[in-house]
Amino acid sequence: MRCPFCNNPDNRVLESRSAEGGQSIRRRRECLRCKRRFTTYEQIEFVPVTVIKRDGRREGFDRSKLLRGIVRACEKTGIPQMRLEEITDEVEAELQQREVREVTSNEIGELVLQKLRYLSEVAYVRFASVYRQFRGIADFIHTLNQLRNDNSTTHREGRSPTNTSIGDSSLETEETEKTVTLSAHS
Ligand SMILES: [Zn+2]
Repeated sequence: MRCPFCNNPDNRVLESRSAEGGQSIRRRRECLRCKRRFTTYEQIEFVPVTVIKRDGRREGFDRSKLLRGIVRACEKTGIPQMRLEEITDEVEAELQQREVREVTSNEIGELVLQKLRYLSEVAYVRFASVYRQFRGIADFIHTLNQLRNDNSTTHREGRSPTNTSIGDSSLETEETEKTVTLSAHS
């Protein structure tokens, strides 16, 4: 990073701090030659992700479209809007960090389901019904059974996803799991 005043490449960092809610790092620098100070911002590079749809068509990843789908699935479940935006951010971040720049709509759906699973059974099944294109009640029952089986193997009994869900951060959920696991072993 060259000094904007004298073009000297050598400088020292006086201060680094997180900016834009952790999206970037702001650095205050001092040129080693002219001693003047300037600021640089370092941020994660956002690259376009292409979504391959079920019919083979491709389109750019659309964050607001994904959020709308999640919001629809979570209607009247009491999950705060902020949590839904966090889920969307997490999914987008996961896609951004991949080596491959193409993702199928199925993969995105599964990522969302992983996150909805411990938040709300209702939201989980609703979301699954849309993106897995349920055709009848048998599909609902199958998904519900799958959800219940998975929950009872990965989680001990006495913990319904709908009870612990509302307003939980993922950290709190992890702690709850640990506690439950410990008590089940003792
Ligand atoms: Zn300089």
